[in-house]
Amino acid sequence: MPIRKSDYPSDWLDISMQVKADAGWRCEWCGAPHKRVIERDSLDPSGWKTIDWLYETDGRLVDTGTLTWKRLRFHGLTRVILTTAHLDRDSTNNTRENLAALCQRCHLRHDIRHDRCRQPPPRTDQGGKKTI
Ligand SMILES: [Zn+2]
Repeated sequence: MPIRKSDYPSDWLDISMQVKADAGWRCEWCGAPHKRVIERDSLDPSGWKTIDWLYETDGRLVDTGTLTWKRLRFHGLTRVILTTAHLDRDSTNNTRENLAALCQRCHLRHDIRHDRCRQPPPRTDQGGKKTI
């Protein structure tokens, strides 16, 4: 969903920072910590572990905090970036109950779930078969 800056109040950054601080700078759904490098558990959608160091392909031990997004992705890792989500998807509803600090993964999942619900039913022909 495109973001319309005009839907957000002028103090949105302050609101967003407070939501993240209230959440202890962790995703409220999966607990992933803001700005830390993590490896997701492929079998458990909410599972993860922090990875602070790893051996690069040339054998060097490196601090994962220094790696680019491209190198993190190469190693199957990601850096958590907390976002502030509108749970009802109404960006003008900034009540505290409607806001949650979510990592990028949980935020996308929330948006996808919501967008699926908003999609019109698939078109069908008169026989009930789906059409493109
Ligand atoms: Zn999360």
